[in-house]
Amino acid sequence: MKKTDVVVLGGLSGITAGISCRRHYPEKKVILIRKEGTVLIPCGIPYIFGTVGGPENNVVPDGLLEKNGIELVTDEAINLDREKKVVTLKNHEPIQYEKLVFATGSLPLVPPIPGVNKENVFSVRKEFDYLKELLKKVDKAKDIVIIGGGFIGVEFADECRKNRDVNITVVEMMDRCLQLALDNEYCDEARAKLEETGVKVLTNEKVVSINGKEDAVESVELASGKEIKADLVILGIGAIPNSKLAEKSGLELGFRKGIKVDRLMRSYTDKNIFACGDCCTKESFFDGKPSGIMLASVATSEARIAGANLFSPVHHNCGVISVFATVINGRAFGVAGLTERTARENGEKIVIGEAAAADTHPGGMPNATMLKVKLIFAKDTGIILGGAVSGGKSTGEMVNVLSACILHRMTANDIAVFQMGTHPALTSSPIAYPIVNAACKAVLSIKG
Ligand SMILES: Cc1cc2nc3c(=O)[nH]c(=O)nc-3n(C[C@H](O)[C@H](O)[C@H](O)COP(=O)(O)OP(=O)(O)OC[C@H]3O[C@@H](n4cnc5c(N)ncnc54)[C@H](O)[C@@H]3O)c2cc1C
Repeated sequence: MKKTDVVVLGGLSGITAGISCRRHYPEKKVILIRKEGTVLIPCGIPYIFGTVGGPENNVVPDGLLEKNGIELVTDEAINLDREKKVVTLKNHEPIQYEKLVFATGSLPLVPPIPGVNKENVFSVRKEFDYLKELLKKVDKAKDIVIIGGGFIGVEFADECRKNRDVNITVVEMMDRCLQLALDNEYCDEARAKLEETGVKVLTNEKVVSINGKEDAVESVELASGKEIKADLVILGIGAIPNSKLAEKSGLELGFRKGIKVDRLMRSYTDKNIFACGDCCTKESFFDGKPSGIMLASVATSEARIAGANLFSPVHHNCGVISVFATVINGRAFGVAGLTERTARENGEKIVIGEAAAADTHPGGMPNATMLKVKLIFAKDTGIILGGAVSGGKSTGEMVNVLSACILHRMTANDIAVFQMGTHPALTSSPIAYPIVNAACKAVLSIKG
């Protein structure tokens, strides 16, 4: 039997946990076990179908493991004996560990609708060969229906239409696409950008069956009675924690069957087992309630905490704020923390500050884009709860700035006097910097 100090099971957050462990405990031997030969950049998966052109152009380099002295075993962990501290693999000898990290991720949700098992119905699995096969199908398809208008669904729609003569319809059962992530006005702006490309968007519509003779897909039937022609269906309706092996080994599960962890990312059941990423439970930063958010930003942050804490506590997890960005037909949309909708649903009394400015100064510079910012503050304390941005490339980093403001509980006053670095070709003008200006407006509203 092979022996090691640390076994990590998983991919993206597994690599991060391994690196974090080696950084804090360079004397420890770490083995990463993962099913796939190649780890795809999960957030890059939609771009396989357009911008990057194939799964081979969207991989996490294994050089990272070598560089950090982590041994890779490509195999599936099929059993865990917690008493003997032994993990059994499908094709290799068992491995004995001192500490183990679950980073087994999530699996796509597949709804129990008739026809879902037909040949040309695909979910979004993070698997190289599966996605290569899906790419071939997308290339041949004439009528693609995407079920789910969340960020995965709209990114797929936007990428699949690139350089192809194909009809694409997104079917979303809520009032708006991206409704769980963005406020209405941003959802509407995103929809308009998507529709400009020729993609059809149907909202308030639910797919009830996928029809076609035998294994073929010919149409999708909606609860409203409508039938949409389809020869390929892609499911983008969410994911569930991949916690089967953890459950089998007796680890306690929590919300949505995630592995239950404490703030050190240690499992509730076994002090030698940690978990991070989509496979484990999360709490909201704002109210401590269980959170179902699954994002790479959260997964890798948790992984850094888990890796650092394996032999002695270093970091604490302060909960999930949810920060992410997406791009639709060249326009970027990003959010950090609560939206106006979620803040109101939580019963918060809020003040909103909004501002817009070009992202260069003067605004007539080549490739300048109009940036829109909306900030949400708690009325009583002035503390920032969330922010949304739409604009160009800088949107991604602007929501990261907002994430820092939220995590450090900055107030509208703090942000109004924030010193933002500016440059004509790179940022908005220092006079009109939209995050600062939105905060200035909120300060006035808070003063009443
Ligand atoms: C299409 C798509 C787009 C996304 N875009 C974004 C984005 O833009 N921004 C963002 O923040 N998030 C995004 N996400 C979410 C993000 O990808 C996930 O939150 C992130 O991948 C979670 O990382 P993880 O390491 O927990 O799990 P995963 O990435 O799911 O990795 C788990 C790994 O564990 C392996 N594994 C599982 N069981 C075993 C076992 N028994 N033995 C060995 N190995 C095992 C799996 O094969 C897999 O390689 C996106 C997700 C998808 C699907």
